[in-house]
Amino acid sequence: MTLHIPFDNSFARLPGAFFTAQDPQPVRAPRLVAFNADLARVMGIAPGEVRDMAQVFSGNLVPEGAAPLAQLYSGHQFGQYNPQLGDGRAVLLGEVVGVDGLRRDIQLKGSGRTPYSRGGDGRAWLGPVLREYLVSEAMHALGIPTTRALAAVETGEEVLRERALPGAVLTRVAASHLRVGSFQVFAARGDLESLRRLTDYAIARHYPQAEGPMGLLRAVCAAQARLVAQWMGVGFIHGVMNTDNCAISGETIDYGPCAFIDMFHPQTVYSSIDRHGRYAYDRQAEMVVWNLAQLATALIQQMEDREAAVEEATEIVHAMPGQIEAAWLRLFRAKLALSDAREGDQQLIEDLLRRMVAGQADFTNTFCALGGEKARDQFTDPTAYDGWEAEWRARRAGLPEAGPLLRAANPAFIPRNHRVEQMIAAAVEGDYAPFHRLNAVLARPYDDQPEAEELTRPPLPGEAVEATFCGT
Ligand code: AMP
Ligand code: MG
Repeated sequence: MTLHIPFDNSFARLPGAFFTAQDPQPVRAPRLVAFNADLARVMGIAPGEVRDMAQVFSGNLVPEGAAPLAQLYSGHQFGQYNPQLGDGRAVLLGEVVGVDGLRRDIQLKGSGRTPYSRGGDGRAWLGPVLREYLVSEAMHALGIPTTRALAAVETGEEVLRERALPGAVLTRVAASHLRVGSFQVFAARGDLESLRRLTDYAIARHYPQAEGPMGLLRAVCAAQARLVAQWMGVGFIHGVMNTDNCAISGETIDYGPCAFIDMFHPQTVYSSIDRHGRYAYDRQAEMVVWNLAQLATALIQQMEDREAAVEEATEIVHAMPGQIEAAWLRLFRAKLALSDAREGDQQLIEDLLRRMVAGQADFTNTFCALGGEKARDQFTDPTAYDGWEAEWRARRAGLPEAGPLLRAANPAFIPRNHRVEQMIAAAVEGDYAPFHRLNAVLARPYDDQPEAEELTRPPLPGEAVEATFCGT
């Protein structure tokens, strides 16, 4: 059987201002190392011979129906506006409408230089490719909107980072790759015709109910507010919440130096390039609002009545902190098996989080074992937990049994940083067993998997990952 991808490309039909036609750059000796058959099925893609798939997902063979292009965007990176970014190491092959009716982009990441590469080589090494594959699929299994991974290919070439490392290409799937920065670039250039065209396109593709630019803004704000609350609920730190990494669809996108918290501390930062903690765990809510304010600023440029638009956009963006807090509260109530809402719940949640910090408790293991000995064991001083548990039990009096509610709301398995690093180290040596095992376990994060108990353990002192790298 030959690989068949039923392309139906809409972005490529937009005017040339939005992209540059660009084929992926061939690689020497592609080898398929991962293929997501479940996702392929939903997308209506018929898998082919492994050798064919290696050719297509490395970029060596442009499949029939594809219209490869590099997208233009700009963005604020750590608060500084960069007027031209764009796909510097990725090409969009095209889109498919899946058997579920959803339209998705198929993008090759690490596929070589494009007009937007600036100083970069357009390539990726195996580490970040496998990290993004594994973590994005884990996020999906956790129920968090995210781009996904369809395939990973080793290129048979080396890329030069701090040292020579095996090159790889990730096939990324997204509701679309439109970002806040996709709008900023045209607003900054005063190209209102393109800005209007892109606004219409984004509405039609993602939020058909939305009315006009302000309707789009409202919809994106709501989606991003929910998303950041969901990140917080699993201890996820994105790491590079620049406006070019903030998707219009509301999906988590661009897994670089991202990481999950082990021992809970709200100011945790892993990214080596985030020196001032701009994107620390507990600043993500504030930063997503900042990003959406940039989208508002861009969208407003096309409005006839500027003054009215500024007022409306301000109201929309200012509503975000309240939306995030409400989503956060809903989510953490569920994490505590509080199946009704009462006054004082927020204090109860915050009290637990404070005690977790003081007690150096593991975020995931505490929530998933609440009410049990194992939760207690997370705390350096278990009596600090006991005091909280008594209050929690009193609050839960008369509610349905906690166990099933806790299990449904609290994952047992997250991609722990030290396991991800161990997986990458093994893969570089040609051993993909840890990758496949992690992937299989993380596909069912809420299930008891006693045979995978070691994957629930926090890092030993020598194993803890202190810093994560972009790996670009
Ligand atoms: P990111 O931090 O991954 O969102 O990337 C920011 C910008 O740098 C984007 O325009 C990327 O396309 C570009 N970029 C990152 N890595 C490379 C690379 N190895 N070669 C060329 N461009 C890159
Ligand atoms: Mg990016």
